[in-house]
Amino acid sequence: MVATVLVGMLCAHLLCFSVMFLLISKRLQGKKMGMDFFAMGNLLLGLAYVLQLLEGGPAWSLMSVVNHTLTLASPVAYWLGAMRFFGQPVPLLRPLLALAVAYSVAQVLVQWSLGPVARYAMLSGMSALLFLIMAITVIYGVRTFAKDLHGEMVFFAVLISGICVLNALKFMKLLEGGLDALQMDRNFQLVFYIYMSFLATVLPPSIVWLILRRLTDELRGIAARAPMTQLLNRRGLKETLQLCFNARKTEAAYLLMLDVDHFKRINDTYGHQIGDAVLCHVAEVLRATARRGDLVSRLGGEEFVVICLDTDTQGVLHLAERLRLAVEKQALRISDSDQSLHCTVTIGVSQSFANKSALEDAMQQADTALYRGKASGRNRVELFQPADSHHPVQSMSSSTRQISPMI
Ligand code: GH3
Ligand code: MG
Ligand code: MG
Repeated sequence: MVATVLVGMLCAHLLCFSVMFLLISKRLQGKKMGMDFFAMGNLLLGLAYVLQLLEGGPAWSLMSVVNHTLTLASPVAYWLGAMRFFGQPVPLLRPLLALAVAYSVAQVLVQWSLGPVARYAMLSGMSALLFLIMAITVIYGVRTFAKDLHGEMVFFAVLISGICVLNALKFMKLLEGGLDALQMDRNFQLVFYIYMSFLATVLPPSIVWLILRRLTDELRGIAARAPMTQLLNRRGLKETLQLCFNARKTEAAYLLMLDVDHFKRINDTYGHQIGDAVLCHVAEVLRATARRGDLVSRLGGEEFVVICLDTDTQGVLHLAERLRLAVEKQALRISDSDQSLHCTVTIGVSQSFANKSALEDAMQQADTALYRGKASGRNRVELFQPADSHHPVQSMSSSTRQISPMI
C-alpha cells in the first residue's frame, strides 16, 4: 500500500516536472540546453511507473515489455540531455528508438530462453550499468568539461551512484530470491521507491539551478564584453581584475593603454566598415600576443587596455614592445582587393598597482605616457614617469596627426 502511494506520487512528480522542463525548453528557444531531453527522460520514466501501477506486479505482457523499455530509455534520455547541456549536438529520437527496438527484442529472447527472473534481472543490471556510466561521466566532467560546476557535479555523482547501487542490489536480490524480491511492500522495494521519490524531488530543481547558473554566467559574459571584438569592456575588465586581486593570484599589475595611430584617417580613407575590421584585427593580434592570464580589453573607440599580471617593469616593457611590433608587422588583408593595410599603435605603460581602486590612477598614468608617445612620433612605447604628474599634459584627442596609414 505504502509503496503504491509512493509510486503514485513519483508518477505525479515525474510528469509535472516533465511539463516544466518542456516549458523551460520552449522559453529557451534555439539553445535549449538539453531541457527538452530531460523532459523526455521524465516523461518516459513517469509513463513507466504509470504502467507499473496498472500492472500491479511482475507479469509477462506487452505492457510489461513497454514498461521495461521505457524504464531503461529514460536514463539514456537524461544522459543525452546532459551531453546537450555541455554543448554536444547529440540526437535524441534515433538513439531512443534504436534502444527501444533492441531492448524489446532482447526482452523477448531472454524471457523465452532464461525465464521471467532473468528479464527483470536484466533490467536492474542494465540500469545499474547505465547509472554507473553516468556517474563515471559526471566524475570525469568535474576534471574536464564541467570544471566550473564542481560542487554540482559532485552532488549529481553522489545521487546517481545511489541509484546505481540500489539497482545493483535489486539485481542480486532477484538472482537470489526470484520475483518475490519485487513484491511492492518488501522493505527493499520501499527503500528503492523512497530513494526514487527523493531523486524525483531533488533532481529537477538541481537541473533548473544548472540552467540558471549557465544563463546568468552567459549574461554576465555578454555584459562584460564588447560585442564587436569580444574583448572585455571596462566593466568586464574591472570585475576580472577584482577577481584576480581577490584570489591573491597576483601581487602587482601594470596597465598598458594602446591607441591606434591615425585611426580617423583610416576611417576617412577606407570607410567605417574597414575601420571596424582594423579594430577587430588589432584586437585579435593583442589577444594572440598577450600572455595567458593577461587581461585584454577595449575601452571604446580605437583604445585598448592590456593589464599585465605577475611581472616587473622590465617584463611589462618587453611585453608592450612585443605587442607594438606584432601590430606593426601583421597586416590586415582587405577582402575583395589585393591590398593589405598596416597600422600601428602607441602604448603608454603605467607604474605598478596592487588593487582595483588604483585602476583609475593607473589609467591616468598610462594615458599620460601614451600622450607623450603620440607627441614623440607615435608607434612607440612610453613608460609613465613620476615626474610626468608634475607636468600635466593635454588630453589624447587633441594630439597632432602626422603619419599616414601604410598600404
Ligand atoms: P591619433 O594617432 O592621435 O590617435 O589619431 P586618431 O585619428 O587615431 O585619433 P582620433 O581620436 O582623432 O580618432 C579616433 C577615431 O576613431 C574617431 C572616431 O570616428 C573613430 N571611431 C571610434 N570608435 C569607432 C568604431 O567603433 N569604429 C570605427 N570604424 N571608428 C571608430
Ligand atoms: Mg583615441
Ligand atoms: Mg588613435
